[in-house]
Amino acid sequence: MGLFSKTIRTLGPWGGYQLARQICRNQPRILMYHRFSNPPVKDWASPKYFEQQVRHIKENYNSYSLVGLMQYKREHGHMPRHAVVITVDDGYRDFYHYAYPILRKYQVPATLFVTTGFVDRKLWLWPDKITWLLNQVDRIPETIKIGAFCSGSGPVNFETRPFYWQQWITHSLSLPDPEKHSFIDQLASKLGKVFPLSIPHEFEPVTWGELLEMQDNEIEIGGHTVTHPSLGRVTESQAREEIFGCRDTLNERLGDRYRTFCYPNGQPSDFRAFLPGLVQEAGFLGAVTAFPDAYGTRDPLLMRRHVSGDDMFQFFKSVSGVELVGLRLRKDVRMSLSGVVASYAG
Ligand SMILES: [Zn+2]
Repeated sequence: MGLFSKTIRTLGPWGGYQLARQICRNQPRILMYHRFSNPPVKDWASPKYFEQQVRHIKENYNSYSLVGLMQYKREHGHMPRHAVVITVDDGYRDFYHYAYPILRKYQVPATLFVTTGFVDRKLWLWPDKITWLLNQVDRIPETIKIGAFCSGSGPVNFETRPFYWQQWITHSLSLPDPEKHSFIDQLASKLGKVFPLSIPHEFEPVTWGELLEMQDNEIEIGGHTVTHPSLGRVTESQAREEIFGCRDTLNERLGDRYRTFCYPNGQPSDFRAFLPGLVQEAGFLGAVTAFPDAYGTRDPLLMRRHVSGDDMFQFFKSVSGVELVGLRLRKDVRMSLSGVVASYAG
């Protein structure tokens, strides 16, 4: 057991959180959420716990939108103390229904990263197509073979559905973008299903009107590409179209202003060395990954994020800095892409 873990055990969880909060006072923590629901759904955030978290942040930390944090740093030359940023990915409508009223109630800013083609209702977010497909069937009649991919037959129910979902998502993520879409279409045709033309209610995006309203009330609307590909599996010119196209649509629909950016999927394999430069060239003030490691927020174009949701233990680890301190003590670095590598001293 490391010294920090021993200290936390001695102090008890609350003492450990307080200690981490002090150690990390100059290191903002960026929290990551995706979907919200009531009643609760596994791995999503529900209003009951989200409200407890927002209240805790309001009472114990200084909260910023991500662009607000970057502007503070520009003005003062350093990050604010005890800063926490709430970020939410993708642009689902449930943010507007469940999270936004709570953020307004406590006057806590946040950043919502939106995929512009999704808000324009030109596309579904592709993982939702897999969820939808698996909800349409109660059995996979025969083994599905698509190229090297092979998925067994059998019943699709409460127990087996997550297994199929994970297998199909993992394979999709390994493919270049056009092949991924073709793979999902082939899955549908093997199951004899046709995707509805309009996005089903449970996968709906926010509207531009709702985004405008939220933008006027302390919610930054950040960029999350046009079609949500893994930017690690597209060419540089496609990445440019995704990043600049997203920026242009946001500026057209919501007005020209400083914003930040979020890399789709955001895992180490979704990155290429040219991406931070493109994001900067497009004028975004900062950008975030979807995983935490020892770098924290040292590189403004590759700031790490901490998971949050209904698990209050994970929330306290993320928000207090316990997770960040642990990663630093273990020198846990999951990705080294930019000049910050040289300056990272452990
Ligand atoms: Zn996303």
